[in-house]
Amino acid sequence: MDGGRRLIRRRQKRLDIEIDFKTGGRFACPECGKADCPVHDTVKKTWRHLNFFQHQAFLHARVPRIDCPDHGVRLVALPWARPGSGFTLLLEAFVMTLVKGMPVAAAARLVGEHDTRLWRVIQHYVDDAVTRMDLADLRRVAIDETAARRGQNYISLFVDIDARKVVYVTEGKDADTVARFAEHVDDHNSDASRIKEVCIDMSCRSPNYAERIGSVALLSQYCSALCEHLLRSIRHSLPLTMPRGKRAGDHSAGNAFSCPGCTA
Ligand SMILES: [Zn+2]
Repeated sequence: MDGGRRLIRRRQKRLDIEIDFKTGGRFACPECGKADCPVHDTVKKTWRHLNFFQHQAFLHARVPRIDCPDHGVRLVALPWARPGSGFTLLLEAFVMTLVKGMPVAAAARLVGEHDTRLWRVIQHYVDDAVTRMDLADLRRVAIDETAARRGQNYISLFVDIDARKVVYVTEGKDADTVARFAEHVDDHNSDASRIKEVCIDMSCRSPNYAERIGSVALLSQYCSALCEHLLRSIRHSLPLTMPRGKRAGDHSAGNAFSCPGCTA
């Protein structure tokens, strides 16, 4: 595809760039990569791009749909945007950089877009990262609950203590959350039996909870060894390995890690 006309509309504070291709152009099939497929028809599309100085910038193109002998009519793959997105890859990268350091609503105001459009971008890349997550090296896990909103809407977080990163987040704070985490580990190049140490700081003192979590393979298999290990070593090691701001005082007090599956 070739660069085409550029048009700056000063009153609207926008730059429009039109991209086109030469008549008779041929393109590769996005499915099999077969080159020189003939164009079946075109679809007009527009993408928001990085700002050009104070102007919002937009790309416009007639996107070819090729006719592949094996896959039929397919929209060609574009080097500047992923399929289905109204943003260019560069703008998406800018958005993802922004939302690492500020609320999505603030990033949306800065970019001049509705935050729902940014959330769709974030959702795509988070899903992609989770799909490609490799938990083969996961050995030590910290589990904690926190209120997602005011009230009793809880989420549970599962942290790789050694990598210092969250590897799973799910709604709720009961034993089912641990079962879902075990399935998550199984689905990401590992299995729950490889986890050797688990640190739990959840509302696990209730007898019902203890009974339920005791049925989870992840914990029941390691619970005895885990409790012994935690009680012996966690006061010394965890405050050094957990991120700052965690309740190190609770850890040192030794009363936040009672075993959910026994009375230790
Ligand atoms: Zn093909």
